[in-house]
Amino acid sequence: MRINKLWLKMAAVSAATAVIGVLAAALLIRNATTSQFGSYLEHIGRMNGMGGMMGGGFGGMMGAPETAFLSSVNTSLWLAGAIAVAIAAMVAIVFSRQITAPLRRLSAAVGRVARGDTSCRLPSASTDEVGALTTNFNCMVESLDRNQDARRKLMGDLAHEMGTPLSVIQSNLEGMLDGIVDASPDKISSLHQEAMLLSRLVKDLRTLAQAEAGRLNLAPAPSDLGKLVSSIVTATGPEAARKGVALSALIEPRLPPAMMDDDRVSQVVANLLSNALRYTPAGGKVEVSVTQDDGALSVSVADTGQGIPEVDLPHIFDRYYRGPEPKEKRAGGSGIGLAVVKELVEAHGGRVWARSTPGQGSVFFFTLPIVPAT
Ligand code: ADP
Repeated sequence: MRINKLWLKMAAVSAATAVIGVLAAALLIRNATTSQFGSYLEHIGRMNGMGGMMGGGFGGMMGAPETAFLSSVNTSLWLAGAIAVAIAAMVAIVFSRQITAPLRRLSAAVGRVARGDTSCRLPSASTDEVGALTTNFNCMVESLDRNQDARRKLMGDLAHEMGTPLSVIQSNLEGMLDGIVDASPDKISSLHQEAMLLSRLVKDLRTLAQAEAGRLNLAPAPSDLGKLVSSIVTATGPEAARKGVALSALIEPRLPPAMMDDDRVSQVVANLLSNALRYTPAGGKVEVSVTQDDGALSVSVADTGQGIPEVDLPHIFDRYYRGPEPKEKRAGGSGIGLAVVKELVEAHGGRVWARSTPGQGSVFFFTLPIVPAT
C-alpha cells in the first residue's frame, strides 16, 4: 500500500518506532523478570533445604501462584506496551498534521501561482526551515507580481509611445494626399522626426532583448569619440532649435582613440541627448562634452531642465523605470532609454552615472576605455 500523505508517513514512522521500542523493552523486561524470579525461587528453595531439587531448575518449583504471577507480569507488560503504542500513534498523528499544515498551505498557494494568481501571500509564523521556505515563497511571488505589473505597464507605454508618432505620420500623410495639408519642407522634416522617434524606440527594444538574451554583440574598434559626438550634436541641432533649447558641444582637442562600437555609442549619445531635450523647457541649455579622465574618455550631457528627484535618481537606469513626466511637453516614455544606455556602456567596459539638482538640471556621464598603447 502506498501512503501519499506526508503527515501519514511521518505518523507511521513514529508509530513503528514506538512499536519497536515497546517490543524491545517488553522482551527485555520479560526475560529479566523470568530469570530473576527463577533465581529468587531457587534461593528460597535452598533456604528451605530443598537444594537437592536444584537439578530440575526453578521450573520444578513453580506452583500455580508463581505461574499466575509471571503471567500477570506478562499481561501487564503487553497492556502497557499497547497503551504506549496507541498514545505514541495519537501524538505522532497530531504533531505530524501540525508540522505539515504550513506545507499544505504552501502547496495550495503554489497551485494558485501556477494558475496565474500572484496575489496570494502566506503568513510566516515559524523561524524553522518551513518558515524560511514560506518567506522565500512570499519574496518570489512579490517579484513575480512586480514583473507582471512592469510588463503590463510597458505594454501600455509602448502602445502609447508607438501609437502617437504613427498616428501623427498617418494623419499628416492622409492630409497631404487629400491636399488639405501642405507638403512643406518643415512639415516633412517634422514627420521625419516622428519616424526617427519610432525607429529609435524599436532599436532600443531590440538592444534590450539582445542584452536580456546575452547576445549583445559589439564590434569595438579604435575610433574617434570626439568626432562621433560632434556629428550627433550637429545632426540634433535643428531639433533643439525647434524646441528652443541651446545645444552646444565641448570636445577636448587631441583625444586618444576610444575602443568602441560606433553604432552602439551613437545610440547611447542619442538617447542621452533625446532625454536632455525632452526634459529641458524652451529657453534652457544642453551641453555635451568629451574629455580625457583617469585613463578613460568621459562624455557628459548636461541640461538645465527640471532635474530628477532624489528618490528617483538611484533607479533611473533600471529597466522600465519611469520618473516624473517632462513638464510642458508631450507625456510618454517607456523607461527603457537609460537601461539601454547602461547595458551598452557596461558592455564596452565603461561606467555610467548621473547627478541632478531638482529644478536646476541634470548631468549624465559615461566613460569608454582608451585603446591600449602597443
Ligand atoms: P523614459 O522613456 O521614461 O524617458 P528613460 O529610461 O530614458 O525612460 O528615463 C528614465 C527616467 O529618468 C525618466 O522617466 C525620467 O524621469 C528620468 N530622466 C531621464 N533623463 C532625464 C533628464 N535629462 N532630466 C530629467 N529626468 C530625466
